Amino acid sequence: MKISLKNLSKDFGSGPVLKDVSLDIEDQELFFLLGPSGCGKTTLLRLLAGFYPPDHGEIYFDEDEVSGLGANERNTGMVFQNYALWPHLNVLQNVGYGLDVRKTDKYERDRRVLETLALVQMEDYGYRFPNELSGGQQQRVALARALVIKPKLLLFDEPLSNLDARLRIELREEIRALHQRTKITTVYVTHDHSEALSLADRIAVLNDGRIEQVASPRTIYRQPSSRFVADFVGETNWWPGTIIGTGNKGTAVKTSIGELGTTKAGDYSVGADVWVGFRPESARLDWGQANSVRTSLVAIEYLGGREEYRCTSMDGTLIKVSIPDPAIALPIGSQLVLGIPPESLIVLPRSGI
Ligand code: ATP
Repeated sequence: MKISLKNLSKDFGSGPVLKDVSLDIEDQELFFLLGPSGCGKTTLLRLLAGFYPPDHGEIYFDEDEVSGLGANERNTGMVFQNYALWPHLNVLQNVGYGLDVRKTDKYERDRRVLETLALVQMEDYGYRFPNELSGGQQQRVALARALVIKPKLLLFDEPLSNLDARLRIELREEIRALHQRTKITTVYVTHDHSEALSLADRIAVLNDGRIEQVASPRTIYRQPSSRFVADFVGETNWWPGTIIGTGNKGTAVKTSIGELGTTKAGDYSVGADVWVGFRPESARLDWGQANSVRTSLVAIEYLGGREEYRCTSMDGTLIKVSIPDPAIALPIGSQLVLGIPPESLIVLPRSGI
């Protein structure tokens, strides 16, 4: 099912929480709402669920407007951060609850409960109560409870936040696999950028009630539309600069550490003020002279699979560099010429922060 949000606004009385949000989510998409605490992502998810209506704007499920429908009229399944299982019901009863409310035939109900529990690998835990399960197992049951009603839309509200790091990664992979199998349109809220980058078909980054960018994970990370988006999904070394050349083949920027060029064409005019930056892992050590930054190595953190360098450029800016698979140890004080591949350089308008 396809979702369309048109000019949604919401205010709980102390200022707007969502400001004129418009968005299209495709049928079968695994779509993420990503942003910092308080940016309005849960509010947007609850509007989709029908927990409350928007102040302005419309919500469409395919061609049908659902803005005025209650939660029980929308056929959505929701998974919460705190699992929200009934403590006095066992796993079979928790998962079957939504079917009982729908007065599903008992044989069909039992068949679907068992089938869905098998889908989340919890078929052996039917008679356990929630307090007899680990956090990960409770979240699998919550997932089964959302899936068993065969919802047209699945809504996830930070479902992995209460789990430890290893389990989060394990369940991430399972959620992705379940989505591949069921193909239910899914909207997933998180403030964890790695969760969004690793799972999403597309991501909407929210900032203070507005959508900053909607794009694939790769585009969000490599071609962010603002410094807010760039900084929210990863680290970047930034310098203020001025456009000195522009055209179809790329953009050249003058900065206090020299000239840097990108192969991406930008909609800039010569003289425009910009931010120019690169991610720590984009820097190369074995590089020629073009697009290079002269630095001095001031600190090293060895992490096994990679090494984090802190360098200072000639203008005194602290630069973070991430070196994969570090084979040799460089002494502190080494003079390093960092090469920045032109396709990895990020250029953004300076007024857009
Ligand atoms: P978090 O990641 O912390 O959950 P969020 O991006 O999901 O943040 P929301 O929960 O949507 O943010 O909240 C956005 C703003 O709306 C916050 O300032 C919050 O206090 C306010 N808010 C949310 N729900 C209500 C409500 N029912 N009544 C009053 N204010 C609310």
